[in-house]
Amino acid sequence: MKDGSLYPVTETMTRHLMDWFNQHQRSMPWRGEKEPYKVWISEIMLNQTQVTTVIPYYNRWLSRFPNVQTLAAATEDEVLKLWEGLGYYSRARHLHQAAQQIMTKRNGMLPNSYQEWLTLPGVGPYAAAAMASIISGEAVGVVDGNTKRVLSRLYEIDEDSSRSSFHTKIKAIIEETYFNENPGWVNQAWMELGALVCQTRPHCHNCPLQDVCQAYSHNTMTDYPVKPGKKALPLLKGAIFIFHEDDKILLVKRQDKGLLGGLWELPNTIYEEQPLADFTLANDILIEQSFIETASHQYSHFKVRFEIYESILRTPWWNDFWQKSEWVTLSRLNDYPRPKVHIKAMKIAGLI
Ligand code: SF4
Repeated sequence: MKDGSLYPVTETMTRHLMDWFNQHQRSMPWRGEKEPYKVWISEIMLNQTQVTTVIPYYNRWLSRFPNVQTLAAATEDEVLKLWEGLGYYSRARHLHQAAQQIMTKRNGMLPNSYQEWLTLPGVGPYAAAAMASIISGEAVGVVDGNTKRVLSRLYEIDEDSSRSSFHTKIKAIIEETYFNENPGWVNQAWMELGALVCQTRPHCHNCPLQDVCQAYSHNTMTDYPVKPGKKALPLLKGAIFIFHEDDKILLVKRQDKGLLGGLWELPNTIYEEQPLADFTLANDILIEQSFIETASHQYSHFKVRFEIYESILRTPWWNDFWQKSEWVTLSRLNDYPRPKVHIKAMKIAGLI
């Protein structure tokens, strides 16, 4: 794990990803292919198009244009005819122009680095990264719809997914995950996980990264990636404290005015208002044990996430932020009107 990183990446995570990929990757005519021309054709076709649609086009293309020379020598009509039905026809025209450029300016030699691939017509950062990593193992992360979806969920990245800073983040995280693996294969594994498991409606029960996925642990999978124009809701983090006295726990009643006015809840603090250490000091609280699971909830304008602590109150409760407090037997907890996130916390702590 990289200390201090907001997006911790571990070798174990990569191993789980690669084990899953080795078992579940789809077989495709270009899988394992290293010949630059074939990888190039497959990546351009795959840009914007489903694998199953691409396969027959790819096979036909290679039998008609088996190399860059034959493609460069063809007429544009021949090229477009072969592309007919695949859509986004500028891809075909760009392939044709690029083939001619390779013949006239590069002596028939295809590029062999990310930067060189970017100089060809029709090759953007996604295709250049895919080709450079697959063909020559260059350590450059692939950012496409699949990797954006998986990584933004894995780390709950609250950032507009159309922004270039978001792309840069995804690329950087992927590049941290290579360890001793071949970057081309790791890139393909991330894309395949997005295509087969972490789909728009994710199949988390089949995911090799479920244990470390933040969106899964907070049940926020469908909030990510954050759609363009949709501002990410601010996330308030805090702590909930569970104090026991015989078979009772302490509940506090919110002031009548304001959000959730008059509801009963477990004593808590929002770190932004009062950090954990300040709150425990001010209220003479000793933390005994924390639960691994957190309690989260989304309101219309913000989200909250509470860590839950079994704690000891060393002096009687006096905090006047709440209008009153009561020690309540466990069997009566459900009689009190409570905010949803506190009901979740009580369930996590096994109180109800
Ligand atoms: Fe995606 Fe679910 Fe896996 Fe998280 S656990 S990466 S949301 S499939």
